[in-house]
Amino acid sequence: MMTRRGIPVSPGVALGPVFILDSTSFRIHSRKIRAGDVDSEIERLRTALVAAVAEARVEQQSVSSQLGKHYGAIFEAHALLLEDPALLDEIERHVRDDLFSAAYSVSKVSRRFAKALLDFKGGAAMASRSADLHDIENRVLKHLLGAHSEGLKDLHEPVIVVAHELTPSQTAQLNPKLVHAFVTEAGGRASHTAIIAAALEIPAIVGVGPFLSDISSGDEVVVDGMHGIFIINPDDEARHRFESARHSYASFERELDEMRDLPAVTKDGHKVTLLGNIEFPHEAAHAIERGAEGIGLYRTEFLYLSRDEDPTEEEQFEAFCRVLQDMPPGTPLVIRTLDLGADKFNPRSGPTVDEQNPVLGLRSIRLCLQNLPLFKTQLRAIMRASMFGDVRILLPMISGLRELRQCKLILRDVTEDLEEEGVAFNSAVPIGTMIEIPSAAIVAHQLARDVDFLSIGTNDLVQYTLAADRTNEHVAELYSASDPAVLQLIQRVLDVERDTGKPVNVCGAMSGEPVYVALLLGMGLRQFSVPPHNIPEVKRVIRATTLSDAKEVATRALQLETATEVTNYLRDQTRRLLPGYEI
Ligand code: PEP
Ligand code: MG
Repeated sequence: MMTRRGIPVSPGVALGPVFILDSTSFRIHSRKIRAGDVDSEIERLRTALVAAVAEARVEQQSVSSQLGKHYGAIFEAHALLLEDPALLDEIERHVRDDLFSAAYSVSKVSRRFAKALLDFKGGAAMASRSADLHDIENRVLKHLLGAHSEGLKDLHEPVIVVAHELTPSQTAQLNPKLVHAFVTEAGGRASHTAIIAAALEIPAIVGVGPFLSDISSGDEVVVDGMHGIFIINPDDEARHRFESARHSYASFERELDEMRDLPAVTKDGHKVTLLGNIEFPHEAAHAIERGAEGIGLYRTEFLYLSRDEDPTEEEQFEAFCRVLQDMPPGTPLVIRTLDLGADKFNPRSGPTVDEQNPVLGLRSIRLCLQNLPLFKTQLRAIMRASMFGDVRILLPMISGLRELRQCKLILRDVTEDLEEEGVAFNSAVPIGTMIEIPSAAIVAHQLARDVDFLSIGTNDLVQYTLAADRTNEHVAELYSASDPAVLQLIQRVLDVERDTGKPVNVCGAMSGEPVYVALLLGMGLRQFSVPPHNIPEVKRVIRATTLSDAKEVATRALQLETATEVTNYLRDQTRRLLPGYEI
């Protein structure tokens, strides 16, 4: 058994066999064989090894003739390793003594050897030998499993996916019925991969650090997405703990269900608006079911990911109408225009340009302003949908007034075209800007004059304020919404509502985290837009606090000097408001 910790990004617990998602992703169906099958299994293993050796020698010859002997020698080394009696003995011992299948034994032994080489302080030479062992593993598995090698699309039974990294669009394609959890070596708290996991309600842990060499396909694992605990080959006691964690999570969920029909008001009667964040049209119904009073953030870029061509105006119009159909009449739908780029790009077409710092580059609104057909197609679809509900437009990644005004001019062009064509739209669609770049937070009062509402995107605001990549586990300690500099910027933006009456919303992950709810209320926030799954929890904190109490929490938190002090203080305060609450 081996226990690892990572960053919990989507709650829930799961136990099941592992599916290693890498470039080859062989799926090992059964770990165990019957005692009577040992001889035939070893026969299968030897045949596969002979075929793998022959294949390596063919590659050696063809590579040598094309690129030279030096390169061909890599494959000769593969063949020699595959013929190494020590390797074969070890694999056969697992089949004979432990009754493991040949495929599982090959995977287990080669990964153990690879890890031993990596741990051995031999530098780059040893690391490349270790990579050779992974190649060899895949070579033998290909011959053992042949037609049975599978990708995610071919899953038929529940698994837990593990990978070095998952892109947001790969994550968006996971089927929650079959992928009961996922765990990645890389990744940060506010990455879009994490956001999608929460949207799909798949328990997930990211940023665990290297573990793939410790795990083989088919190994059993436990994933605790609430605490970020990941156990490989759990013993009986760990399984027992898993069962009790599963029960307590289920009863926690039931308790939260009871929040659904209760109003979002503070203990002293102040109304708070709770909206949902969605990435896919079908989530709207789910958000409403969880108690959302509208959609405060629809991330439309997910219509563009995982497909070969950009969606047409008609396809987008239909998607927006589908969302509106699932919402009670009169509830707002805030459609955010395309926020493509950085980690959100189509893996088939890749990023649009090659940049050294894509997060600081041509992404989001900047991309739209340089690609007017793309932008205008989406704006047309939004405006047409505005005839069918309370549609509002939200512009992402605005850094200042110039960009904002450019966007408004383009929108005017679009509405003039629609008018000329006789296409109906609501000419009073409210327009808002995201505040997610420090420069926008600093000039928020000026920006407010040109828009109907503001929405603070804390995910990016934290990243850009602290210069800490939201997807990078190595700076995860730095990346914190509790940081005093971040809090001061947020306070500055929330003051816009007090000073101008223009509504300010927080749609970044911060407002969905129970620990920040009293703080944000006390700082003046009255509109939270959160992932559907978090709505009941946020409502529970709102209902447990009074506004005067929340103001005291905010005053004290804003006086603290470090993110750790702020987080610890907010945790204590949340426990005080909700005794027994696990944070
Ligand atoms: C944000 O940055 O907080 C936000 C809501 O946008 P996204 O997470 O899609 O970047
Ligand atoms: Mg953002």
